[in-house]
Amino acid sequence: MPTPSPAGRPPILSDRQGFNRRWFAPNLAKVFTPASAAEVAAALDASVALQGQVKVASGRHCYESFVYSDQTRALIDLSGMKRVGVDESRGFYVEAGASNWDAYLGLLTGYDRTLPAGSCYSVGAGGHICGGGYGLLSRLHGLTVDHLTAVELAVKPDAGAPARIVTVDTGSRGDEALLYWASRGGGGGNFGIITRYYFEDPPAAPSEAALRIYSYDWEQFTTPGMLQQLLDVYTEQLASQRPETWNGFALLKLNHRAVGQINVIFQQALPRELGEDGRAWCHERAGAVESALAAIAPLRPQRGPLVGHVGWLGGLHPSSVSLQWLTYYEALQTLNGSGPNQRGKYKSAYMRKGFPAAQTAALFEGLQVVPPGLSADDMKQTLVQVDTYGGAINRLGTAATPVPQRDSILKLQYQTYWNTAQPIGAPDDARGRAQVDYLRGLYQAVYAPYGGTPDPARDPAGVVDGCYYNYPDVDLGTGPEVEQALWLYFKDNYRSHPMNLRAAKRAWDPNNFFRHAQSIPV
Ligand SMILES: Cc1cc2nc3c(=O)[nH]c(=O)nc-3n(C[C@H](O)[C@H](O)[C@H](O)COP(=O)(O)OP(=O)(O)OC[C@H]3O[C@@H](n4cnc5c(N)ncnc54)[C@H](O)[C@@H]3O)c2cc1C
Repeated sequence: MPTPSPAGRPPILSDRQGFNRRWFAPNLAKVFTPASAAEVAAALDASVALQGQVKVASGRHCYESFVYSDQTRALIDLSGMKRVGVDESRGFYVEAGASNWDAYLGLLTGYDRTLPAGSCYSVGAGGHICGGGYGLLSRLHGLTVDHLTAVELAVKPDAGAPARIVTVDTGSRGDEALLYWASRGGGGGNFGIITRYYFEDPPAAPSEAALRIYSYDWEQFTTPGMLQQLLDVYTEQLASQRPETWNGFALLKLNHRAVGQINVIFQQALPRELGEDGRAWCHERAGAVESALAAIAPLRPQRGPLVGHVGWLGGLHPSSVSLQWLTYYEALQTLNGSGPNQRGKYKSAYMRKGFPAAQTAALFEGLQVVPPGLSADDMKQTLVQVDTYGGAINRLGTAATPVPQRDSILKLQYQTYWNTAQPIGAPDDARGRAQVDYLRGLYQAVYAPYGGTPDPARDPAGVVDGCYYNYPDVDLGTGPEVEQALWLYFKDNYRSHPMNLRAAKRAWDPNNFFRHAQSIPV
């Protein structure tokens, strides 16, 4: 039986696969499972000696094969370092191996605090927070990195010297200030191994949340014009930038027609100081949203489970009939939808304004296509999810953190999932390749006016604003084309702004030990 060892151990089969079943590391020969920052530093040195590079996993939820691939021979798995607590001098901390659920529970039950991080329980803090980390409280409290006050990392800027531990924070100067800045959205697998995140004063947890799900049957949408009405109402009502609406967060599940329905999930968090007034306001808001949505077409009962990452909100759930009140703990559980382990492909886009007619028309058409090689049943887990965004996220400027999208109001996630009877670790079969091709085609059609991606440099109307690094997509560019991908993720924060990710890379990983298909180049 393998035992935890700072010196590393041989892999077991479960070490080889990511959350996305497409990603597998067949050549993995050594696994490090450190229990302290010092052990992480030792594992970093050992990894460099073994394979000339470093592969780190915390929650294994990377959308692409940045960790699990045939390149990976040694892996540092931080999942054993998952403590959440308070440090006397630096305040609250979350270790990198903690899952979102570990972090939420630890902060809520221990201290009545929370973070505006992602809703999926099994995502790891290690990759999630340093990429930005947004979720259902982000309109109210901003991104998780907006609250990050210090970061502890193992780094190896000098190939000839042992790896060392640094803690960088709001008071850091010079290269350390650069590393602190880069850790607030520059993404995982780039500069060093994060061992601990500190938050001096994370937000107070809401006491409760109001949940409502509105549904339509797809067949009610007979023209692109009707879909346009839905997108306009959704943007106006739910992505409103009026501060009194920031406690609300919505997810529009623009499902493929094969799913049968289109759903809107609307959660409103209730800060405790608002009490009864807050409850009345939430009822009023949910009622206004319902009236506006019902004016497009009559709302229908939710007929099946929701698609994508969203917990088990089945058809008989009362929130699909009326507003449902949940304790904050329950709300975390209810929307904690990591979903089953499957194969999946994802793409993203930020939007600063509502949907232009050409985008709506491309979505209307593309979400009804059953591509060659796939059946309608294969499209039952395909959707474009439109999350509301903005609010407190947009209080910071574009260069305050590496995340430059600070005036977007919507964030889109294109998703398609499938399963297969192939053996563990098998590459995509023809059905899998058809799923990937389909999503690529849909995305290219929607963003055709900007060259096939949501490229703000090619959008004089200022609608689209690039992509999310934590939803990585290799189609945006790898190899010589990685520059274009990094522009879409980071815009001027990649290399032009005085504080930039390229400079951070040169200062902290000049030997490029941390590298993957879309890592920051030296
Ligand atoms: C089901 C699901 C739901 C999601 N929901 C959300 C959401 O609501 N909001 C949101 O913002 N994002 C969400 N994401 C995206 C998520 O934030 C990213 O996939 C994130 O990178 C995952 O981090 P991880 O540690 O789980 O993954 P891993 O695969 O372990 O790591 C991801 C990347 O970070 C690097 N990395 C991991 N640990 C460290 C570390 N300690 N130090 C340095 N680098 C490290 C890895 O090398 C890799 O490059 C979701 C993803 C999934 C699969």
